[in-house]
Amino acid sequence: MARPDPDSYFMGIALAVRARANCTGRRVGAIIVRDYRILSTGYNGTPSKMRNCEDGGCHRCAHPDRYTSGEGYDVCVCVHAEQNALLAAARFGVAIEGCTLYTTLQPCFGCLKEALQASVAEVCYLHAWQSRFREQYDALVERLGAGRFRRVAVDDPAAVWAAGRAGDVERALGHEVLDG
Ligand SMILES: [Zn+2]
Ligand SMILES: [Zn+2]
Repeated sequence: MARPDPDSYFMGIALAVRARANCTGRRVGAIIVRDYRILSTGYNGTPSKMRNCEDGGCHRCAHPDRYTSGEGYDVCVCVHAEQNALLAAARFGVAIEGCTLYTTLQPCFGCLKEALQASVAEVCYLHAWQSRFREQYDALVERLGAGRFRRVAVDDPAAVWAAGRAGDVERALGHEVLDG
């Protein structure tokens, strides 16, 4: 077996983290890395000690028909993988300034904004999508800096499982997944 390069190695670990995701929307895994060391991990789902999304714990995820596309996202209780990775670092007192965030799905507007403000220096994602709010999104990417927002292409045999119910929840985020 060929030895993976660092990007493939870390994205492979983000994919392994994703296996724990519990959301009826897309399933996502994220890790935070500095100096080739993993500082934090996260996958998406409801807050701990709440009923899992797949067991109906998130009203918005369970009832996409009751929420207008693009609205009500603020009452979705599911925490994103990137948010969970950032929050676990905060919880356990791990400094993440200058780190790289690997995530299996291009971050949403909120996660990208939060990563920037946490001084994440680089964002690497696997599955890409195009924001409906491109101007605002691109402003965040520009702030991150040239070459610091990169797609890392690795095989994803579980891509269909991870896509979940690619419906209203993702569209509410402005997500349109382009590369499956
Ligand atoms: Zn959910
Ligand atoms: Zn997000």
